[in-house]
Amino acid sequence: MRPEILFPLFTPVSTLKGVGPRVAPLIEKIAGSIVRDVLFTAPQSVIRRIATTVDSAVDGQVQTFIVSIDAHQPPSRLGQPWKIRAWDETGFLTLTWFKGHGPHLERQHPPGARRAVSGKVERFGSEIQVAHPEYLLPEERAAEIPEFEPVYSVTAGLPSRTFRRFALEALDRAAELPEWQDPAWKAREAWPGWREAFAAAHNPAGEADVAPLAPHRRRLAYDELLAHQLALAQRKASRRAQPAPRVGPSSLAADAEKALPFKLTGAQIRALSEVRGDLASGERMSRLLQGDVGSGKTVVGMLAVADAAGAGLQSAFMAPTEILARQHYETIAPALTALGLSVVLLTGRDKGAGRANKLAGLANGSHAVAIGTHALFQDDVVFKTLGLSIIDEQHRFGVNERRRLQDKGEGVHLLAMSATPIPRTLELTVFGDLDVSRIDEKPPGRTPVATRAVPMPRLPEIVARLKSAAEGGAQAFWICPLVSESEKIDLCAAEDRAADLRKIIGSSVGLVHGQMPAAEKDAVMADFVDGRVSVLVATTVVEVGVNVPNASIMVIEQAERFGLAQLHQLRGRVGRGARESSCVLLYDLPLSDTAQQRLDILRRSDDGFEIAEKDLELRGGGDPLGLKQSGFPAYRLADPVAHRDLIAVAADDARLILARDPDLTSPRGQAVRTLQELFDWKPTSPQHDAG
Ligand code: ADP
Ligand code: MG
Repeated sequence: MRPEILFPLFTPVSTLKGVGPRVAPLIEKIAGSIVRDVLFTAPQSVIRRIATTVDSAVDGQVQTFIVSIDAHQPPSRLGQPWKIRAWDETGFLTLTWFKGHGPHLERQHPPGARRAVSGKVERFGSEIQVAHPEYLLPEERAAEIPEFEPVYSVTAGLPSRTFRRFALEALDRAAELPEWQDPAWKAREAWPGWREAFAAAHNPAGEADVAPLAPHRRRLAYDELLAHQLALAQRKASRRAQPAPRVGPSSLAADAEKALPFKLTGAQIRALSEVRGDLASGERMSRLLQGDVGSGKTVVGMLAVADAAGAGLQSAFMAPTEILARQHYETIAPALTALGLSVVLLTGRDKGAGRANKLAGLANGSHAVAIGTHALFQDDVVFKTLGLSIIDEQHRFGVNERRRLQDKGEGVHLLAMSATPIPRTLELTVFGDLDVSRIDEKPPGRTPVATRAVPMPRLPEIVARLKSAAEGGAQAFWICPLVSESEKIDLCAAEDRAADLRKIIGSSVGLVHGQMPAAEKDAVMADFVDGRVSVLVATTVVEVGVNVPNASIMVIEQAERFGLAQLHQLRGRVGRGARESSCVLLYDLPLSDTAQQRLDILRRSDDGFEIAEKDLELRGGGDPLGLKQSGFPAYRLADPVAHRDLIAVAADDARLILARDPDLTSPRGQAVRTLQELFDWKPTSPQHDAG
């Protein structure tokens, strides 16, 4: 139940003064639909208005002048601005209005009047201009022009200053709330109270006050992180409380393990025993298997499937692409079939009677395992006794899709897999409600991939080497990025590249891309796996999971456009066999300093987590880690990079709060409930359901 004290913040933005049907949608677009959202939208920066004289006007700066009005110059023809000539003892200043009512301006600012004027200066030769001054006040009111003014990231039709008015009104509506922060911690950090923090955020007195490290910003960030971590911790606890069938280690799995052509690595054994601990607990497993590409996650999943089958339960193993589902089927099915289990592959290509047959087998329990794509989510896919869902490359699936799969059985155990190397510091924000097992060791016998960055003009040299390598039996991936808005254009680039390479290397160059019919795609992939294709030109469809042990060369065009994590994953497609492997990062000139540094990280490191961490440090704008894709929460007050030191503290704090006071009934517990209501991150909130 939302406490009454929050009601004024939980009203529609249209209740703010001056917000009508035109403005409300604009506010909703940048902030959200309720007053709280306006309060939560802190300014991005400040502008400083420098008070000066006309002879010190600087083009492009926001400046304030004290002037006398000299004369009005009405437009000489349509489309010309209304101009006011003004002056101080150092020179003339022209104020212009393209829209605006001239006669009104003339009445308001008659010749001879003394005015304080402020706005962005533009210089055209010797003419100094301020177009549409933001302030034009009688001189005695000059003090009303603030030296610093917050800048909100706004949208067309809603200027920053208008938004600020709404923000200040939202601030007025915010009551002082009971303190939910631990007093000792708050004192140590020298943080203001909650309301005070927002007051400071919306009234910055300089650059430092809009910086993420300002104490009031850190406090608000911490509030948000704490609310989120509480929701995650509660969600985890409630999942745990759901009963699920107890599954013990089975002889089937023991047999499957014995039949493997290799020994499990220490990390795989550890991960498997963590999975088994969950399966045997009687509570629902919600575990993420986190491991670099090629670390061997699949086999851990397969052994869990064997355990489930040993307990008479069906499993669903889901992959994001057709190619990957097929590959999983081809590697897993023989091993499981050898144990007497029936495995089916279910993808979008199954139609008609064939599909009906497979579905019937799943519904009557004669198939123990279904491997497939999104096709597994279809409503008419019914299991007799689904006990385990495995979701490979989990970030590629939406939350609802994952849930739909879990809903196909009672207390279905969930094992998610991911090769997206989330830096440790951020892991808690993405996977705080999952238990995480890390496979941090690669199977033995892998040769490190020699990585080089090469400028595009040296392309012919690379192609020549590729040709001789291909003649020597090597296989290569050649990745063309998806860069333009139009997939068609990108496709052409890939097609052109394939054609170019065919001219030089010959007919063994294949092409695979996302727009191809699944059957064609699979055929090309199969040719590559079997060695009939030596160079596979691809858009990023090979990004995830595909395993071609003989492939030893990875060429990535316009590597500077990819996130490091993605480059690392692509590179992980090679270096899986005995052959010495190499990765060529082709880049367009000129390369920026940061881009250079980023590519250097890849040359030096082979550890996905280290790469992600370094990339984070170099992070510019945007989302180079692909965090959004990975289910990263959209924080509004916390910056997961700038405030990353607070994440673990908030997680500990949340755990401690719930351990001491699980029902949140103590005075602090009550305050914490208010915090949760304020952020609205309920433990059941689907957008944060990583499982
Ligand atoms: P990923 O973690 O990227 O999904 P895979 O499960 O596809 O990795 O494994 C990559 C390759 O490593 C596969 O060919 C698999 O058979 C092999 N592999 C897995 N575990 C081991 C191991 N312990 N020793 C040797 N090879 C292994
Ligand atoms: Mg995999």
